[in-house]
Amino acid sequence: MKIPLFSKKEETAEDPVCHMQVNVSDPPGGTADHDGVTYYFCGPGCRVEFQKEPEAYLSGEKSMEM
Ligand SMILES: [Zn+2]
Repeated sequence: MKIPLFSKKEETAEDPVCHMQVNVSDPPGGTADHDGVTYYFCGPGCRVEFQKEPEAYLSGEKSMEM
């Protein structure tokens, strides 16, 4: 029997630091608000980095390879 890879539809959002898809209902790194937008993180390290320099990550000037 074939099991579908995504049997349950889950909402995901892109981690702005490492560009991983993060489950918004349970983000492993928590969330951060910036300019009224909520961002989701794959881990606490990404959230800390984002909060140091949110503009740099949102503009694409900086990014972190995992
Ligand atoms: Zn990340």
